[in-house]
Amino acid sequence: LEAKEEFSHKTLAMDVMRPRRNDPPLTVITQDSMTVEDVEVIINETTYSGYPVVVSRESQRLVGFVLRRDLIISIENARKKQDGIVSTSVIYFTDHSPPLPPSSPSMLKLRSILDLSPFTVTDQTPMEIVVDIFRKLGLRQCLVTHNGKLLGIITKKDVLKHIAQMANQDPDSILFN
Ligand code: ADP
Repeated sequence: LEAKEEFSHKTLAMDVMRPRRNDPPLTVITQDSMTVEDVEVIINETTYSGYPVVVSRESQRLVGFVLRRDLIISIENARKKQDGIVSTSVIYFTDHSPPLPPSSPSMLKLRSILDLSPFTVTDQTPMEIVVDIFRKLGLRQCLVTHNGKLLGIITKKDVLKHIAQMANQDPDSILFN
């Protein structure tokens, strides 16, 4: 029993989440200030399954989570079928379009593909609990916050790697997973 307690308090969400200490920051999309081209660059330069959507880079307030495949399909469709959608069109995930000069190109509303309540845990959540949540809710990913600000992400694969690592370090701990 003691071993279990020791194990359960050892690793926290912040130890498993990405980015790690010296990694580049999380790749996020802002809710109403990025263009079609900005988002296409992100899609082309990263391979992540999804991206957190934030109010602004400065605030890092989480708005939701958008899947890469939904972004690709929606932008492709809009470029083909929606009049006035060009590289400089602003994408917005908010209810209402952001105020822009009248001469700006048509905006692209993508609120419908946004998951407005992605699962989140705080950075201090013990990994034992995170593992449990992943199992019970069948999560693919979970966002990590600190004082309401987005800090990182943990994917199902990150969790599986963590479990394997724990099992390697301490064969007994597998009993508790
Ligand atoms: P998987 O973990 O199944 O390979 P991803 O390709 O989405 O799924 O993620 C690869 C790695 O990058 C994971 O370690 C994950 O924590 C991290 N990651 C996922 N999404 C992002 C993101 N938007 N920005 C930075 N890192 C991310």
